[in-house]
Amino acid sequence: MIFAANFKTNHTRKSTELYIKELNEKLGAKKPEDKVYIFPPATALDAYEGDFKIGVQNAYPTINGAYTGEIGVEQLDEFDIKTILIGHSERREHMGESQEKVAEKFSFFQEHDLEIIYCIGEPLYIREKGFEAVMQYLLAQFEGIDINYASLIIAYEPIWAIGTGRSATVEEISTTHRALKKVIGNKPLLYGGSAKPANIKEIINIAGVDGVLVGSASLDADSFSEMILS
Ligand code: PEP
Repeated sequence: MIFAANFKTNHTRKSTELYIKELNEKLGAKKPEDKVYIFPPATALDAYEGDFKIGVQNAYPTINGAYTGEIGVEQLDEFDIKTILIGHSERREHMGESQEKVAEKFSFFQEHDLEIIYCIGEPLYIREKGFEAVMQYLLAQFEGIDINYASLIIAYEPIWAIGTGRSATVEEISTTHRALKKVIGNKPLLYGGSAKPANIKEIINIAGVDGVLVGSASLDADSFSEMILS
């Protein structure tokens, strides 16, 4: 299983260091085959040591240059960051990242050999239209994306379940993952959306779920490690 923590705009450099120290004390008990990823804010990126990978939540598709406020490959290389989140619904929604921009970013970081966790997910009004509409919406988010990229992990994150405390049901996750697996083949497929210690077991036991991308419940090292060790 893959357990990925997305801190979003939470934690500082100092609190990330403490978090990693706490997490490291627990990770000795994790199954060797389980993989842990941590996506701290850009200001807390560093080459931390432990049984996990540090990834970046976002970067600009450039090595370096005149892109005020952004970071590129040169800044990631400094801390040996080799994993990136692309297509998160918060970036699509709040930062106005179009599918075209997302695909451009994907191609650039693919060319630079970064491992990509690529996020897709539908808003509530689409879910309410029924399963066919959901799949049509999700498949459109593969436009311009090379789903055969070797270092690709996909995260299905229904937008209405993100940060709301209301996870998708086992049935919703199961049917959506089954349909997505037919498209993405053997790529790992994570579920994201209000995953927490209370529901982690039932989520990771669903066929077609290869792990979870966790926001709120990952902010506390105890809660995240409880999920990993569940
Ligand atoms: C996310 O934003 O990727 C996420 C899954 O958030 P939460 O766990 O808080 O729903």
